[in-house]
Amino acid sequence: MYKVVTKSRGRTKGIQRVDLAYAVRASSEVARDINRDVVLEFIRTKQPISRADLSRLSGLRPSTISAIVEQLLDEKWISEGPAARLPRGRRPTLLSLNPDMVILVSDIRPNQVIIAVVDLNGRFLSRETLPLIKDPARGVENIVAAMKRMIANYPDRSFEGIGLSLPGRVDPATQRLILAPNLSWSDYDIKGAIERKIPLQIEMDNAANACLLSELWFGHMDGVREAVLVTISEGVGSAILANGHLVKGKSGLAGEFGHVPIDPQGPRCGCGRRGCWEVFASSRAAINFYADSVPGAPRPTIMELLNLAEDGDEKAITALNRQAAYLGQGLSIIASVLSPEMILLTGGLTTSWKRFGPIVEKELAKNMLVGEAPRISVMTDVESDRLRGAAALVLQRHSGSNRQSANGARPKRT
Ligand SMILES: [Zn+2]
Repeated sequence: MYKVVTKSRGRTKGIQRVDLAYAVRASSEVARDINRDVVLEFIRTKQPISRADLSRLSGLRPSTISAIVEQLLDEKWISEGPAARLPRGRRPTLLSLNPDMVILVSDIRPNQVIIAVVDLNGRFLSRETLPLIKDPARGVENIVAAMKRMIANYPDRSFEGIGLSLPGRVDPATQRLILAPNLSWSDYDIKGAIERKIPLQIEMDNAANACLLSELWFGHMDGVREAVLVTISEGVGSAILANGHLVKGKSGLAGEFGHVPIDPQGPRCGCGRRGCWEVFASSRAAINFYADSVPGAPRPTIMELLNLAEDGDEKAITALNRQAAYLGQGLSIIASVLSPEMILLTGGLTTSWKRFGPIVEKELAKNMLVGEAPRISVMTDVESDRLRGAAALVLQRHSGSNRQSANGARPKRT
């Protein structure tokens, strides 16, 4: 015999394990912060929008909406436009992101630096390209001078912070570059050197994470919470979005799929080991395949190789087909490990996606353990994505996703 336990009030709650070291208590302040983020996101995605529509969409009471809107107006994140035109009744004023608030961003590459001013909607106000000076102290000095010029060009704008996209990983503890073989600035305190000259808060991350953030904030990833971005250039880089958050790992090195060995007897990789995925799937790999098949010919750049293929050069096509197949095989490993809904690709081969995409997709589908392959999306304006992503680094500093982290505290606004 057993007794049926009747549930009190129709429902028994389960137990949620809470990590007490990181848990944020549900104070009224936390609740207000969460609601503020929700309202700000509705304004960002539905602007221009009235308070009544914000209340309807968010389910928050009109009085709560009013209080949050006052706070956001006060913080200068949003601005109030002219009254909406309605046939009758009260004419509500509409709210939008503040067009005067901007972010200074820089994409530091191994041979050039781009500096730009971006607004909260991801629109560029200006963009400038500088050569990269190899010596880090002089290189950063050059960047600082250009940044100061740009700030001076916009005296009416309010600069919210500086975002940097870098060609290497950033150690979360030291905020210095690690694993940036093409830019020898690893021991140099880039952040400190800029902060000493320009009184704005700086956020920095690697280019792949910046691109993924850009897609998340300004792109078309609506609702996608599991994604991987793979950059194909001299090497193969990647960024991971899991459960809607960027995954960095303890050391900031999470997602180094490019250095997962797929053939222990393969060619030597820049990391010192043999047969890493990037030795087979990077742009450099395709160039090597081609050079091996045409001894004595000068080594083409990846764009030259892609152009040769478009012109029907059989050896160029064979080399790129080989790269595409290896790329697809590696993506299937990523799919097995992370089961993303979407894989975003940028760089090299993706500029001739019509020709080589089907090979990548076929290899990926063939090697899936079970079920459908993740959808592949090719990003076409990576330069802009890196810059917008650098802006998103600054924006997300203020968002709820950083509430538990050390740098999640909101700076005082003036
Ligand atoms: Zn390697």
